[in-house]
Amino acid sequence: MKAKSLLIILPACLLFLNLCLSPAAYGGRIDLVVDHGVEKDAEAQARAAVNGVTDFFQNTYGIGLERDIRIKFSCDKLNYRKAIQDWYGASEGQANFVAQNTAGVQQRGTLIVDLGDINSDYSKLFVLCHEMVHFYQAQESQDHHGSIGWMLEGSADALAAHILATVGVKGASGYKDRWIKYLKKAQAIPNLEYLHTHKGLMSACFTYGGFVTYRTSALAVMTLIEWRGYPALFVYFQALKNSSPEDAFYQAFGTKAADFEKQFRPF
Ligand SMILES: [Zn+2]
Repeated sequence: MKAKSLLIILPACLLFLNLCLSPAAYGGRIDLVVDHGVEKDAEAQARAAVNGVTDFFQNTYGIGLERDIRIKFSCDKLNYRKAIQDWYGASEGQANFVAQNTAGVQQRGTLIVDLGDINSDYSKLFVLCHEMVHFYQAQESQDHHGSIGWMLEGSADALAAHILATVGVKGASGYKDRWIKYLKKAQAIPNLEYLHTHKGLMSACFTYGGFVTYRTSALAVMTLIEWRGYPALFVYFQALKNSSPEDAFYQAFGTKAADFEKQFRPF
């Protein structure tokens, strides 16, 4: 799940679902469920982003989806909240809270993204790609992907940004410079060591803000990518199947995670 600042609740639209079953994608099937109210252009962009993710993993790692996934595009906040209740069995209060603070959520192979207003808010496509990367992390690590917090979220952000820029989504290019500029303006930035555990990462989101915490993590991952290339990233996630996080990190990047965390500075 990604933290997101307050979003405006858009007027309700009737909830007619348009169920589209895509053909088998590399073994796993992607079911896309699209709210009737989603604009055609928004849907086209979101589908291009989904294809961008599957193509990236196929071309870069030779990895296809092996698990079926289900993605719901909602047309506004109200339907997003309703989908969280219907798909996840959340109470009204829980769904309200999640809907107000996120633009996308993922749980056990299902992903819900609010596509309302995407033309003025590219971050929703970003959330879509970010959450899809988590599916691949989970699949390749056999659900051990959360071992190092900043690797989990940082690689989802770094790959999402890279994929959207590759697909040519408006406003997606030049993300690294933008992120550095943003962090330079931040009052404080967490040390990477602090983001090692999931608990540390979550507490940093409260202390430093979600954006600062996630972008710090993403820039750390981008440093590793610039150093060892994109292939190394999934050597790490695949190694998590049978190795400790420390060993997996060493196998992928040839250095100890603790040493890298001590040395890393985002700029
Ligand atoms: Zn995430």
